[in-house]
Amino acid sequence: MKHRIVILGAGYAGASAAGRLARRLHPDDVELTLVNAEPDFVERVRLHQLAAGQDLKARPLADMFAGTGVTLRVARVTGVDVDRRTVALAGADGAPGADGPAELAYDTLVYALGSSADDHQVPGVAEHAHELAGRGGALRLRDRLAALGPGGRVVVVGGGLTGIEAVTEIAETRPDLDVALAVRGDLGAWLSDAGRRHLRGVLDRLGVTVHEHTDVARVTATAVETAAGGTVPADAAVWTTGFAAHPIAAATALELTDRGRIAVDATMRSVSHPDVYAVGDAAQADGPLGNPLRMSCASGIPMAWLAADNVAARLTGGRVPHTPLGYVHQCISLGRGDAIIQFVTSDDQARAAAPGGRLAARYKEMVCAGAYWTVAHPIQYPVRRRRLTAASGEVPAGSAVGA
Ligand SMILES: Cc1cc2nc3c(=O)[nH]c(=O)nc-3n(C[C@H](O)[C@H](O)[C@H](O)COP(=O)(O)OP(=O)(O)OC[C@H]3O[C@@H](n4cnc5c(N)ncnc54)[C@H](O)[C@@H]3O)c2cc1C
Repeated sequence: MKHRIVILGAGYAGASAAGRLARRLHPDDVELTLVNAEPDFVERVRLHQLAAGQDLKARPLADMFAGTGVTLRVARVTGVDVDRRTVALAGADGAPGADGPAELAYDTLVYALGSSADDHQVPGVAEHAHELAGRGGALRLRDRLAALGPGGRVVVVGGGLTGIEAVTEIAETRPDLDVALAVRGDLGAWLSDAGRRHLRGVLDRLGVTVHEHTDVARVTATAVETAAGGTVPADAAVWTTGFAAHPIAAATALELTDRGRIAVDATMRSVSHPDVYAVGDAAQADGPLGNPLRMSCASGIPMAWLAADNVAARLTGGRVPHTPLGYVHQCISLGRGDAIIQFVTSDDQARAAAPGGRLAARYKEMVCAGAYWTVAHPIQYPVRRRRLTAASGEVPAGSAVGA
């Protein structure tokens, strides 16, 4: 019987893991199944562009994985039983198993279901605020912005990377709107002096009102209310204060961190269940100095490569790699014509250099396009389709090393 590897989630991390596994393992020995709720690959790093009214290219997963040996299953994961080693699925219309069996069994699981917007349980956010952590939310925000006339008031809450990218994209696309940004501390506090200066200059140029040291305590249909008792009028509030792991992992016996992410070791393997690997936003791995890697495709894609190489090494009796993961830069778009490339240490602390402007915007665009290209074209991985070994518990007939 073939070794069944099931990959949950075809975002940056899951799709990268699936593509790499297909290049590392022999198709006679393994069955690779990739499960995703949507038939398309969603470029999450461009969802602020979608929300602002730009159209994104359709990226059908069926095309991306045609001829790779990976079986694509478009279905929603509703649960994982890590003791029985099964995954429960519902079809796209929510009916159990509408487009195939309602349960998938695995020998090895790669969990990559990503994250969603974190409302931090602030009152009114779920009812009144928009988010753009997923395609559905970005499309709803797009509709809301389109319905606003000149002078419509938009308040983006959250001064992190997503908030900055969202507020600049909206202000640039819709100069007729009254756009504000509410941040808890100093604007761009984690950036270098050069990065902060550039950011402030761009927000000034785009006419964005910045409310610093503003803790939002409630969102209503017409405003955001601050902990200090202030009110900022909002026809549309956009909530970008971070991402939270999906609750599916929390309903399993997997060991989680206090943030609900799956705790993994340096090989991306669950610390509680050795037949489960977790990558991307769903997992918490440590950076070079022991700090958790932040949710990003900058770390999610390398996590996926590492997990795939470890799965392959363990199944084929190869050397188990322990490549340290770290950062080089943060590429922050500021609309279509501007950006900041904030260079960072491997543990994500700002260095002095933070070039900004048109060239930086081009570079950022290359990074986004390159991230998609890397996921969609695993051809950069050398083909080493090794045969499984006896130690893996799956003994193939024939040779020790395949084509
Ligand atoms: C607006 C925006 C801008 C960003 N910009 C950057 C950036 O510039 N640089 C950067 O590094 N990061 C950026 N990020 C963060 C980055 O997009 C995420 O960290 C990255 O997408 C995580 O990859 P992932 O594969 O873990 O999750 P995802 O890309 O979210 O993939 C998860 C996949 O799982 C699927 N899924 C979820 N639940 C289920 C289910 N129950 N059943 C079946 N399938 C399911 C989803 O459909 C999706 O395909 C940005 C995010 C946003 C929202």
